[in-house]
Amino acid sequence: MMRTYHLSLGSNMGDRASILRSGLDRLKAVGQVRKVSAFYETKPWGNPDQADFLNAAAEFQTDLLPEGLLDTIKKIEMEAGRDLTAERWGPRPLDIDILLQGTLRLSTPRLTIPHPHLADRDFVLAPLSEIAPEVEVPGTGKTAAELWAGRQASGR
Ligand code: AMP
Repeated sequence: MMRTYHLSLGSNMGDRASILRSGLDRLKAVGQVRKVSAFYETKPWGNPDQADFLNAAAEFQTDLLPEGLLDTIKKIEMEAGRDLTAERWGPRPLDIDILLQGTLRLSTPRLTIPHPHLADRDFVLAPLSEIAPEVEVPGTGKTAAELWAGRQASGR
């Protein structure tokens, strides 16, 4: 059964745009990338003492269940890390998160869907609302565009 996922991708090391593009290419081995947002330059969240990020959102269709998709994502992230830090293990150059899978709400030790920080991170909401403004975020009663507009109005 085909499932539609919304994913978030980020990179703050090396050739960030190439790394994002190769992560998307690697996903194509297990499904179809239907939409990709622009790449957004963003300030690091949490620890500010690191390089700026490039962030994107994608709509991805696959037969994989959430746990299987997470396994694939972990492999893709590891491969991106190995290529660029063959000798010195640094911060991972590629981070991929599962934001949404339709109306699914899931909470296991490994996986929470919708992603718990979806609604409070600009670098997630901006690209998500670009590619999927009308998608409803389960548990909020709001669409991605409404959540994004709300954050902009509040001025954080
Ligand atoms: P991080 O190192 O910040 O990328 O965290 C990755 C870990 O968060 C993964 O190994 C997952 O087990 C866990 N996780 C929980 N929910 C999600 C989600 N919706 N998407 C991706 N990873 C998740």
